[in-house]
Amino acid sequence: MKEGIHPSYYQATVTCNCGNSFVTGSTKPEIHVEVCSKCHSFYTGAQKTAAAKGRIDKFNKKFGIQ
Ligand SMILES: [Zn+2]
Repeated sequence: MKEGIHPSYYQATVTCNCGNSFVTGSTKPEIHVEVCSKCHSFYTGAQKTAAAKGRIDKFNKKFGIQ
């Protein structure tokens, strides 16, 4: 690589709001994220389904649908 034109490459520690942290490669030594693969509903699956079900129940109750 040519000297002086490339940013430094770190073993970056990524810290998530849920408390999970993992190591990856980045040009920044530390990264903070709001969601990760441990807490995002796409990966946990059940959370999303539960939330959707709750909304439907609320709607049905509001309009008296059994
Ligand atoms: Zn997370």
